[in-house]
Amino acid sequence: MTSSTPERTPRVIGHVVGGRRVEEAQRYGAVHDPATGRVTGRVALASAADVDAAVAAALAAFPGWSRTGLSRRVEILFAFHELLRGHRDEIARLVSAEHGKVVSDAEGEVARALENVEFATGIPHLLKGGFSQQVSTGVDVHEVKQPLGVMVGITPFNFPAMVPLWMIPTAIACGNTFVLKPSERDPSASLLVARLLAEAGLPDGVVNVVQGDRVAVDRLLEHPDVAAISFVGSTPVARHVYETGTRHGKRVQALGGAKNHLVVLPDAELDAAADAAVSAGYGSAGERCMAISVVVAVGDVADALVEAIRTRVAGLVVGPGNDPASQMGPLITAEHRDRVAARVGSAVDEGAVLVLDGRDGPPVGPGADGQDTSGGFFLRPSLVDHVRPEHTVYREEIFGPVLSVVRVETFDDALRLVDENPYGNGAAIFTRDGGAARRFEVEVQAGMVGVNVPIPVPVGYYSFGGWKGSLFGDSHMYGPEGIHFATRTKVVTSRWPDPATSSIDLGFPRTR
Ligand code: NAD
Repeated sequence: MTSSTPERTPRVIGHVVGGRRVEEAQRYGAVHDPATGRVTGRVALASAADVDAAVAAALAAFPGWSRTGLSRRVEILFAFHELLRGHRDEIARLVSAEHGKVVSDAEGEVARALENVEFATGIPHLLKGGFSQQVSTGVDVHEVKQPLGVMVGITPFNFPAMVPLWMIPTAIACGNTFVLKPSERDPSASLLVARLLAEAGLPDGVVNVVQGDRVAVDRLLEHPDVAAISFVGSTPVARHVYETGTRHGKRVQALGGAKNHLVVLPDAELDAAADAAVSAGYGSAGERCMAISVVVAVGDVADALVEAIRTRVAGLVVGPGNDPASQMGPLITAEHRDRVAARVGSAVDEGAVLVLDGRDGPPVGPGADGQDTSGGFFLRPSLVDHVRPEHTVYREEIFGPVLSVVRVETFDDALRLVDENPYGNGAAIFTRDGGAARRFEVEVQAGMVGVNVPIPVPVGYYSFGGWKGSLFGDSHMYGPEGIHFATRTKVVTSRWPDPATSSIDLGFPRTR
């Protein structure tokens, strides 16, 4: 964690265990305002014993909650939806203050979270199983979906409200109880979510929050009372979570990092493609798992496209997230900013062409509130042309305001480039050619595909997930696959015996 000048008494951001706030800890981490660099909070870092207490609370709540009627669960989810909607501004400001993204972007995050709650309110319909009457004489078969028990969510810094709410609504709607381990970098939104769930009438212990770092994660991965783990974060940690969790017998879905390509064909509407590249490349300072980080310019579109992107990027307003004039805020930490800046440097060293260098440029101004941003974690946008697949800036997930342009000759070359990349979260194509778009949709190796849409995040009634190194496990998150992940199926075969026809039969049961 970065150390910088602390405020006089930074507040403590603690756990919620069985409905109780717990602020005592043996270790604390620093939470910053990325726009100023100041320490604004101390987050409790859970020990293994703290994790055990949260899991015990979730386990104790499970029998009661899993037997709670569907209509009562729905009533609570509806109340939560209304509270979330009512607190949209407060959540967005909280997210912006600890993450750095601009408030309007954080509002978008809450809007996507609301979609998941909305979906979960349909749970009476979504949990319906099949029924087959008279599969054999007097025999019926039906199927039910039952909850797993204690589910865990481990979430990244970049969507501190939305990603926990990709997981929690579905998990609890299905009758599970939950332990959330949010990112230690921007943990406060999780406490507000927990408070609103309690206000909506959710019984204590159904959703618990443990703040912490890898100590907490590693205990959750091996805890005998944890049934399933949903993880979202970087690929190395996703792999660790998947391998360790499954080795301990748990159901795991682990979503990892990304390197999303936007392929622009020569016939594309150039202005729309440039607008999309800039919005999806630099929105949230590139700290989105669905950010576009590579533009693949096919054929002779490259020069005009790079110029169209350059003029747009040069006009972007960088500033504190709480200034309505800002289009892009700071990065999450000083270390991350320096790592991203170093990747820009490596691109030049390795032979790419820097069209815009984000390491240059005037200091960021104080913003509408007059904050001192001199210690903020700002990095202006960079645009790198003539990037090649062997360059570090292409091979690594940069997760910052850096857009690489790779020039290729043909559509086949573009498809090959996307397919050979180890990540497969999202991929987009900009073209006016329906046949090319259809071929892209069919052949591209990515879990979420956009056709003239740069950030194809599925709506709440579909499911979110990538391919290749962007997801370990077989279930995407939220939506129908979220329900599948959060339940197990039981198939019941029943007969109401008629003494008149009952007999002994040692043969294997047949259906006729
Ligand atoms: P991260 O992997 O560093 O952290 C994610 C979570 O894992 C956090 O809760 C953190 O405390 C924990 N963690 C970190 N290191 C750990 C370790 N060594 N052992 C155990 N637990 C550990 O990710 P981040 O920096 O918070 O988030 C950014 C990353 O998340 C990017 O790679 C981004 O692409 C990815 N992401 C992916 C998606 C997706 O849907 N695929 C969505 C959002 C973010």
